[in-house]
Amino acid sequence: TSFKQGNMVYCTPATGRLVQLKLKVKRKQIRYVQVGETIIVRGCSVTAFEANHCPGAVMFLFHVHSSGHKHLHVGDFRYDRSKIKLTAGMFPLENVYLDTTYCDPKYTFPSQDQAIENACRLARKYASSPRCLVYFGTYSIGKENMFMRVVHSLAESERVRDNICVSKEKFRILQSLGEYFSLEEWAQFTIDKKKSRFHVVPMNQLKLETLAKKVKGSKFYDKIVAFRPTGWSKSAAVSHDKSGLATLISIPYSEHSSFSELKAFVKDIRMRHQVERSPTFIPTVATSKEKMNTILCP
Ligand SMILES: [Zn+2]
Repeated sequence: TSFKQGNMVYCTPATGRLVQLKLKVKRKQIRYVQVGETIIVRGCSVTAFEANHCPGAVMFLFHVHSSGHKHLHVGDFRYDRSKIKLTAGMFPLENVYLDTTYCDPKYTFPSQDQAIENACRLARKYASSPRCLVYFGTYSIGKENMFMRVVHSLAESERVRDNICVSKEKFRILQSLGEYFSLEEWAQFTIDKKKSRFHVVPMNQLKLETLAKKVKGSKFYDKIVAFRPTGWSKSAAVSHDKSGLATLISIPYSEHSSFSELKAFVKDIRMRHQVERSPTFIPTVATSKEKMNTILCP
């Protein structure tokens, strides 16, 4: 992505630091907006709301002064009534731009808490030995909750050290998230591979044959277990390589709304309007009319 001189990026401080680090955008081109804060941009009042996506992600409400119209853009979001609060000031809405990543009845997956609980249970079953190397797949940002809680649950049950090894690159990214971690959590991160059997790695390293090679002939480890959090799998799936050294566990952990959460969001938004002036819902991810109708029809 490139940003032309003079264009501004409006985002939370966490996203802002990430944008400087990863996209090389200059600080003076970034305007920080806190969750709940309203700023004025070109004749619009713009308010940021929690999006329950990756750290720093927000939804934006645009209130156009000239027309009086309000529009809500959810960005990427995972709808959860306890985390995303719809406030009176948001309504009435003209347009709602919707994260339609999983806009199809086949995308039904558990809540994040359920997915994490299940990952912890599988971790205790397959990865409790101190001679088991554990990998967690991630992209540059997101899924932090998942590996933090799995390591915590293993450490608790065996009193092992709960250091988490990350790459230098990932360490810098985590640093930019600052306030999202407590001091104790901070103390867990290390870039020294020898200090921990828990390693956070890029998602593309999680192939069974490649994983097996990591522990073959190792002095320290007898086996390896890798967790792959993904929104595209429906339920947890465990697979092993031929040698029995490597185990890959896919966990249905998503940072986008499931089909039923999308439906619930549309319903909650409509409840705030009279039927005749329900807002227009606009997909932001390529979605056919038929699929849109599956969430719009009660
Ligand atoms: Zn995203």
